Amino acid sequence: MADLTPTPDRPGLHVSKPSPSAPATASAVCHCGARATATGDAQVKALVDGWDANHGRAHGRK
Ligand SMILES: [Zn+2]
Repeated sequence: MADLTPTPDRPGLHVSKPSPSAPATASAVCHCGARATATGDAQVKALVDGWDANHGRAHGRK
């Protein structure tokens, strides 16, 4: 199984939810140097929303 955890060499956002009853987890590394992790559905949603707004693809948006 591939290791999908983002690293500075492979920036990105990865969300994992092993099962419907398990809390989601997320880890993110941006090419700008920011990194974040979250555990729990609400925390992961907040991380993803903030990441989309400020990092990742948002860096190329005007
Ligand atoms: Zn960034």
